[in-house]
Amino acid sequence: QAAELESWGAAHSASGAPDDPDDPGASRAPGDPGDRGDPGDPGDRGGRRAGITVRLGDGDTLPEGTELVVTAPGWNPGKPLFAAAAEAGAEVWGDVELAWRLRGTAGGRAAPWLAVTGTNGKTTTVRMLASILTAAGLKTAAVGNIGVSLLDAVLGGEEYDVLAVELSSYQLHWAPSLRAHSAAVLNLAPDHLDWHGSMGAYAADKGRVYEGNTVACVYNAADPATEALVREADVVEGCRAVGFTLGTPGPSQLGVVDGILVDRAFVENRQKQAQELAEVSDIGASSSRGPGAGPPAPHNIANALAAAALARAFGVPAAAVRDGLRAFRSDPHRIEYVDDVGGVAYVDDSKATNTHAAEASLAAYEPIVWIAGGLAKGATFDELVGKSAKRLRGAVLMGADRALIAEALARHAPEVPVVGLDRTDTGAMPAAVREAARLARPGDTVLLAPACASMDMFADYNKRGEAFADAVRALAAERA
Ligand code: ADP
Repeated sequence: QAAELESWGAAHSASGAPDDPDDPGASRAPGDPGDRGDPGDPGDRGGRRAGITVRLGDGDTLPEGTELVVTAPGWNPGKPLFAAAAEAGAEVWGDVELAWRLRGTAGGRAAPWLAVTGTNGKTTTVRMLASILTAAGLKTAAVGNIGVSLLDAVLGGEEYDVLAVELSSYQLHWAPSLRAHSAAVLNLAPDHLDWHGSMGAYAADKGRVYEGNTVACVYNAADPATEALVREADVVEGCRAVGFTLGTPGPSQLGVVDGILVDRAFVENRQKQAQELAEVSDIGASSSRGPGAGPPAPHNIANALAAAALARAFGVPAAAVRDGLRAFRSDPHRIEYVDDVGGVAYVDDSKATNTHAAEASLAAYEPIVWIAGGLAKGATFDELVGKSAKRLRGAVLMGADRALIAEALARHAPEVPVVGLDRTDTGAMPAAVREAARLARPGDTVLLAPACASMDMFADYNKRGEAFADAVRALAAERA
């Protein structure tokens, strides 16, 4: 049979996928121009040689004789195409499943995967992990839902010792045969429930990351839901459950004792109870956290412990954990220290696009002038505001759903001064920063942690963070 390339439905369109630039892993279609490369001729990537007919598109009826559907990770599982596929006995794979099955086929060996998922902290943890693995002299890359796609990593011709893989719940949903060496679920909070249908379904998709693990399933001891997923997973005999905690670690856990990250799960010297890995202050020590930036936020200590657990499961020595954490640099707009103006620190956490993330960053500072607001995506703010109220000096709210946050503040923190900004033009962020500066006192932190998506006012969270940093620099220049 000759290779055939046909279109059906609206080719290359990702319609039906959640179009969320704040969460890029959700919306890419296989074959998106500029995403996977040469979408125009997938036949050349093997279809022609294998005698396979490849059809691109997003139709809802299954073309006659289809044996396999390769889906964009963001396509809703309720899309009629998938019901049609199930009825016809056709398999459905996402890009991660495809990459898993194709690993090792482009020459070279198939590198094991250390996988990270969770509601928040994935990118940061994967960056830390890749930095630690590199410090250990291993050839690795941070891949998956983090810039470089898994397919590019697997088929790109590079030989890796191990891959540090970020996986979204969407990707896991469509990756039934993935078997990681070790994996971590960092935390679980309600997110993307419109796609998954329920919290149980969302958690189950996250939990797939543990299926078939060979060495360690890493869970968050402060989040029992992650440990429950480990218990439910079917793993290879001898695979261990390894916890991480910000407190003193129990056996088979990593934790913190007197400002030192310690490992009680993978101890090199059997005589010893615990292995010291690094000081908390080593985390990001070589980065631009800056003199006014203060110690690492607690959630980044947790992320560092998770990364260390996966690296230790892979046999990385303690010194490489320390060196890797020192060399680690956070991606922009994740608790990024911008500047000090008049004794007030300005911190950009524009990537805090949901309430769970914002809660973590609000827990890292006190007193805070909080800049928040945007698109709430159905979230409620009572819990976040209730937990954070005592840390707030004031709040500046903007964006489409600012009233929801204002109402929660009125209920739980009526004494906190709140400034609401009506404007949505390019001057809105400079105005917000000026209002925040007016509320702040020396020693305070002005924190952009919106708890909302950005698309009502900005192209994405990057643009929102850049607007904040520009406004802070302009303020610093004015005051200089
Ligand atoms: P993800 O890739 O899961 O979106 P990031 O590492 O990009 O995670 O961090 C996104 C935001 O989530 C950060 O800006 C911070 O506000 C918050 N965050 C990071 N790590 C954690 C964590 N372990 N727990 C809760 N919130 C976190």
